[in-house]
Amino acid sequence: MTQTSSTESLLLEIALPVPLRRCFDYLPPADITPSALQPGALVRVPFGHQELIGVLIKVKTESAQDLGKLRHALAIIDPRPALDSELLDLCLWAADYYQCAPGEALQTALPVLLRQGEPAQLRGEPVFRLTTEGKGLPEGALKRSPKQAALLAALQTHHQLSRNDLDLLDIPRSIAKSLIDKGLARIDEIVPSQAPHPAELLREQPLVLSDEQQAAFAQIDYGSFKTYLLDGATGSGKTEIYLQAIEQSLKQGKQALVLVPEIGLTPQTLQRFQRRFNLPIVALHSGLNDRERLDAWLQARDGIARIIIGTRSALFTPLKEPGILIIDEEHDGSFKQQDGFRYSARDLAAVRAHRLGIPLILGSATPSLETLHNAIQGRYQYLRLKARAGNAKPPEIQLLDIRGEILHEGFAQASIDAIGDTLGKGNQVLVFLNRRGYAPTLECHDCGWLANCNHCDARMTVHQTPRHLHCHHCDHQRGIPKRCPSCNSSKIQPIGQGTERSEVVLQQLFPAHKVIRVDRDSTRNKNSMQKLLVDVHSGEPCILVGTQMLAKGHHFADVTLVVIIDADAGLFSTDFRGAERMGQLLLQVAGRAGREEKSGRVILQSHHTDHPLVQTLVQQGYHALADLILHERQITQLPPYRHLALIRAESKQAIAAVNFLQTARKIAEQLQAPHPLLNYLGPLPAMMEKRGDRFRYQLQINSAQRKPLQQLLSELALQLEVSPLAKRVRWSIDVDPQEMG
Ligand code: ADP
Ligand code: ZN
Ligand code: ZN
Repeated sequence: MTQTSSTESLLLEIALPVPLRRCFDYLPPADITPSALQPGALVRVPFGHQELIGVLIKVKTESAQDLGKLRHALAIIDPRPALDSELLDLCLWAADYYQCAPGEALQTALPVLLRQGEPAQLRGEPVFRLTTEGKGLPEGALKRSPKQAALLAALQTHHQLSRNDLDLLDIPRSIAKSLIDKGLARIDEIVPSQAPHPAELLREQPLVLSDEQQAAFAQIDYGSFKTYLLDGATGSGKTEIYLQAIEQSLKQGKQALVLVPEIGLTPQTLQRFQRRFNLPIVALHSGLNDRERLDAWLQARDGIARIIIGTRSALFTPLKEPGILIIDEEHDGSFKQQDGFRYSARDLAAVRAHRLGIPLILGSATPSLETLHNAIQGRYQYLRLKARAGNAKPPEIQLLDIRGEILHEGFAQASIDAIGDTLGKGNQVLVFLNRRGYAPTLECHDCGWLANCNHCDARMTVHQTPRHLHCHHCDHQRGIPKRCPSCNSSKIQPIGQGTERSEVVLQQLFPAHKVIRVDRDSTRNKNSMQKLLVDVHSGEPCILVGTQMLAKGHHFADVTLVVIIDADAGLFSTDFRGAERMGQLLLQVAGRAGREEKSGRVILQSHHTDHPLVQTLVQQGYHALADLILHERQITQLPPYRHLALIRAESKQAIAAVNFLQTARKIAEQLQAPHPLLNYLGPLPAMMEKRGDRFRYQLQINSAQRKPLQQLLSELALQLEVSPLAKRVRWSIDVDPQEMG
């Protein structure tokens, strides 16, 4: 019993999933050996009247809490820690930096099943293999079902395929089932283990890099930490560089972690990796169920998966042999979490790569101004690709002044003609409009009544399929009235354009062609995006109409014309990032055109063709626009020249939110008096003051240096947490906020 008694003087510091910025001390579970107490292990503990699962942060001998009141932890869920020290430290660092409760940050990093107490162990995984009968089938069998034939061929080459492999090869599970029903294939359970590295890492030969690509590629150092900005237009060959950089890393026996925006995680991207590499790849995407997600996570941790591709939270994937981190489309807003643990996966990737001593590549055609600034200042190594890879030429952008033009449901005649022309030549058209629904609002022609949301400072959007009014901010829905609720007139009409309406109009104008709408409504179901895009990839002339979902990551080889219905949407935003976002979005959309041999053309409809931002963007491109905006940011003392934090508060009573923030400001000013290098703004109403029946206010803190801001926020957060006013509001701290609303 000597071993048990030796835990007697030990205490466990545990992070629990509660919104308090502190850890909790417990006595070790009874009958446990000290060796089972490893930081990073999950622990079940009593908390009030409930039981919670927390993460063991450290084992210590002293507590600031009253020892007599400490309770015993109930059990260590798995003596092998779920989080290794690297990941645990990263999460704690991030919790501290983003002013989040440590337990909440750790929640985000852990797969759901681990949080629920599932042991962090790989289970047997079903794999598909051929039966003797299947193996005996001659090549070219199953000709009548091409999908079955494809699966047969894949099984003959690879001997076994996991469910993940089927997804990557785009083979529906029903096809696998048909082969099983025919007695040609069977399912075996195997526990994956780290296979010896295959002699040949590659399935296909890499492309020969262009001089420019080669120059960029040659600068990457795989043995130490450095952040690289790979800045190159869409189609300039960035992905090819990622693939070859990953290859270098894999050759050294290392793993690669690649983050992509949610929308960009298309089968196209995955298949490109799958085609290239002969090593296990896992994809962490929103289509996985909890068990699949945990399996992928464990395979990365145990070194089985060599390439991990995922969205934001995949940053927290444990890696046995980390070699390189890559963030594609680094400017994309989805890398910043907007609630709870408000981290930026892009910024944390730099922290993680630094701690691991490995390279980080940030890639974009339209880098964020923060990243661009870092590259210009020399903090990041600047790698630039100016030409398009292969034979593709950059698209020609034509600014179309629509002031005074008679528009046909939003379309200028010149745009309609261009669409007709393009279809006539057998090519495809992409129409971009960043507003889903039929029309942004409903108006009474007689009295001017507008369909407002009762719960928000916002208009209700008109939807036709199905017919209803929908508030996109609080999700409130109601029917479309037949008569004006204000004057009883029957002349109420939808005003403005949404994607549904453009779809209807385009279908009327071009009845012989398919019009395919891509937005959040049309892609709600699993795989619906892929289904919609089947027609597009068949190459038939057609029109794609959609929101920014279309702007990201897709490769439409036959699109030669892009029409942007409303280029002005971002110009007059009250968010200081409005212009930057507009530039990024327009160029990302424009970049969809003419990617292969066919050259592309972009029509930008605008009411403000002489606006300096629009002019600069069209005539000189994104980098000139970025220079202009950076200059403005320097003068107005905004990021990347200053550091920002927002304290937000919302409440059903506006006064409660305002009072809370006034108190916050008072406390803050006592901690750090306002000074030219650190100042306060607010409380001010948020851009949309009322949303979902809550009044929203914010206090902005702007600092020239990061350290004093961090110190201030940490102290402020602790004081606010215990303030009685905090009980009457929902409040949060957002460090490096991306959305100012
Ligand atoms: P990006 O990621 O910058 O959009 P990609 O790497 O996807 O660019 O390249 C765009 C297209 O050009 C792809 O079809 C790719 O196969 C092709 N490509 C890239 N690099 C080369 C190269 N060195 N030689 C020939 N084709 C290339
Ligand atoms: Zn009316
Ligand atoms: Zn609403």
